[in-house]
Amino acid sequence: MWIGFDDTDSLQGGCTTYVATEVIRRIEYDLIGFPRLVRLNPNVPWKTRGNGAIALQVGRGGGKKIEIGEIEGRKIFCYSYKKEDADADKLAEIVDEMIKEYSMSDAQPSFVITRKKLPYFIYKKAVKSVVKKEEVKELLKKEGAIYRGYNGGRGIIGAAAAISWKPRDRTYELITYGKEKWLNKESVIKMDKSCSSTFNNYDYENDYIALLPKANSPVFYGIRGDDYEELKKAKEMIVGAKEERWLIFETNQATDEHLQRKKIRDIKPYESVIVKGIVKKAPHTIKGGHVIFSIYDGNEIECAAYEPTKQFRNIIRQLMPGDEVVVYGGVRAKPFTINLEKIEIRKLVDAYRKVENPICSKCGKHMKSIGKGKGYRCPKCGARAGEEEAKYVKVKRELKPGMYEVPIIAMRHLTKPIKRMKANII
Ligand code: ATP
Repeated sequence: MWIGFDDTDSLQGGCTTYVATEVIRRIEYDLIGFPRLVRLNPNVPWKTRGNGAIALQVGRGGGKKIEIGEIEGRKIFCYSYKKEDADADKLAEIVDEMIKEYSMSDAQPSFVITRKKLPYFIYKKAVKSVVKKEEVKELLKKEGAIYRGYNGGRGIIGAAAAISWKPRDRTYELITYGKEKWLNKESVIKMDKSCSSTFNNYDYENDYIALLPKANSPVFYGIRGDDYEELKKAKEMIVGAKEERWLIFETNQATDEHLQRKKIRDIKPYESVIVKGIVKKAPHTIKGGHVIFSIYDGNEIECAAYEPTKQFRNIIRQLMPGDEVVVYGGVRAKPFTINLEKIEIRKLVDAYRKVENPICSKCGKHMKSIGKGKGYRCPKCGARAGEEEAKYVKVKRELKPGMYEVPIIAMRHLTKPIKRMKANII
């Protein structure tokens, strides 16, 4: 039996993954496979923070048994296959109770319980674009699922999408919970250096411990990686307060599954896109420290490296009109801009610096500029010359072709770090 739920938390606090640990604590069934933390479209305006939803498969388990956590002193395991299914009504009762107990008053929680896994397209749509509640309800009715929504119940979208996720690419996150929250930075750095399949632990450029949640939450810290066994070792290396519980989730974090390749004319707000283009408008810094430029592929769109992307802006500032790039990022509605997560710089144009104005062929004098891009005039006889008649020298460009990403401090949950990318070519 699959259980999906979402939207239990709000800006006041809470965390849907904590509700997952409570559901696991209360049900008398085994977990089949890992609990799943599924991130959905990071650009939906009504998300609280990371747009994460939960799916669990439960029943009587068989096959390989893996230790994946500890809740209230009890070891938690998951099994590789289902021997016997769970009772849907019994589950609905427990999940209903948990949601009522743990949801924030201004959240819109929902849950879905279904024997049959939901079709993949609903996840695909929910991670890449905007889904309507009615569309999901329609599907759930057709599939014969049990579902319930509270306070508007927008969480039904995330709850259904989480169940329908099929891991093609996947990572894991070991999340710890507790009220006492101190940890030793040096131990995080040591862990980061010795556990090579983990990622996004510590931002060396910005001296930022990325394991810690950004907001008020029952989460103490989370370690992300490709190998769940190494996550357990990584946890042992962290020196800090003793966690009250921990659990490993299988997730679509760091997979780039939100992105879709698009031509500029086909881009819609709230999507996340990969677009190839030529830099048209040179980068310039606006108020607030955001760096803006545009790309062109027959149509033009602005791209932004916002202030929180820190050092990444120094790369962007070096772009010049004519450079060939592939940008990766989320599309904001207003202003209609691609908010950069990564950029691949494919080809750099040659850059020149003017060293001398043209010389008047009659008077032998240096001409004077009559305005940017407008050419030159001899101050004595008034003869004119074009921009191209000045003397230029080629300058070396410091920027190198390749893939660049925002620093860890600004990285989105779904963004695949370069460390996880097999090839830099799309
Ligand atoms: P946290 O990460 O802290 O758990 P959150 O950012 O996941 O919080 P939620 O409170 O779950 O925020 O709110 C996200 C809401 O958006 C949910 O109601 C979810 O059903 C809905 N939602 C998710 N993806 C989409 C989508 N693609 N289209 C429309 N609604 C969506």
